[in-house]
Amino acid sequence: MNLLDKLFSKEIKRRTGAHAITICIEEDKAKKRSRSLGASALTASSKTKITTKKAEGSFLHRIDLRFPWLKLAAVIVIGVIVILDLLNLTISDSGEQGIRARVAPMSKHLRSTDRVLDGKKLVVLTFDDGPSEATTPRLLDILAEKDVPATFFMLGSKAKANPKIVKRANKEGHEVASHTMYHQNLVRIPADAVKSDISEAKSVIKDILGWNPRFTRPPYGNVNDNVRSTVGTPMILWSVDTEDWRSKNVDSILSTAMSELHDGAVILMHDVYPTSVDAVPKLIDAVREKGYEFASLSEITKIRGVKLKNGIAYYNFRP
Ligand SMILES: [Zn+2]
Repeated sequence: MNLLDKLFSKEIKRRTGAHAITICIEEDKAKKRSRSLGASALTASSKTKITTKKAEGSFLHRIDLRFPWLKLAAVIVIGVIVILDLLNLTISDSGEQGIRARVAPMSKHLRSTDRVLDGKKLVVLTFDDGPSEATTPRLLDILAEKDVPATFFMLGSKAKANPKIVKRANKEGHEVASHTMYHQNLVRIPADAVKSDISEAKSVIKDILGWNPRFTRPPYGNVNDNVRSTVGTPMILWSVDTEDWRSKNVDSILSTAMSELHDGAVILMHDVYPTSVDAVPKLIDAVREKGYEFASLSEITKIRGVKLKNGIAYYNFRP
């Protein structure tokens, strides 16, 4: 190899090498480009996939993607509805209706009529010794028809035998109260017998209605210190005795009741006599004709501002 050949060959090698280096560099760049392109292509493809997946997702999500303001509007609307609802609940809970509902949860009469009792002469109708399958349902029909609330001082023994009537009386807005378990004369029996009689009657009513009776009427109206300390509720006696159990006569019941009637009277009757039930619609009409209205115990004590106390006997609720 001559000098020229050597030089040529060197030049070729140099150039080839340079070319090879250039090629390498170009390849490198290309690789990098392709990597970069590939990555962005992949990213773009993933994005497309995700977007597609999202777009193919729930209807709400699609709406969310297209109309992002809709979500805010929905939140505002739901918020307003919830606030209005809460306000409404608060009003009804603190309002008169709420208070009435708590006082007498079963009071159909208090709900069904907007009887204005303030400033009126009032009487309370009470029935003892029941409930009786033979007579009490008919009485309940009459009271419902006349829209009169009453208080039933039931015997635990009879309530136990007629739970359906107890429930019906309660459901129709009447007060279910205790007349003890077995109608014993509480001032003539030992203290522990008084205690067990009273508590047995309470538990019978509680088993049927779910709560203890709020009032008690001791049989014969007989009360002593032992009864006062044992009874555990206010005692409601009476101021007008129709003596229906004695006369068993409608006219006699009416004349006795009307002659003793007064504002705040508590009228005593017995729902176990057919004649007593017969007298009720006539008595209601006659009492209303004289300008009186019938109130429940809850109503009259509220209107007359009487705060009932356990162990105290109340005979009437005069103004
Ligand atoms: Zn009795």
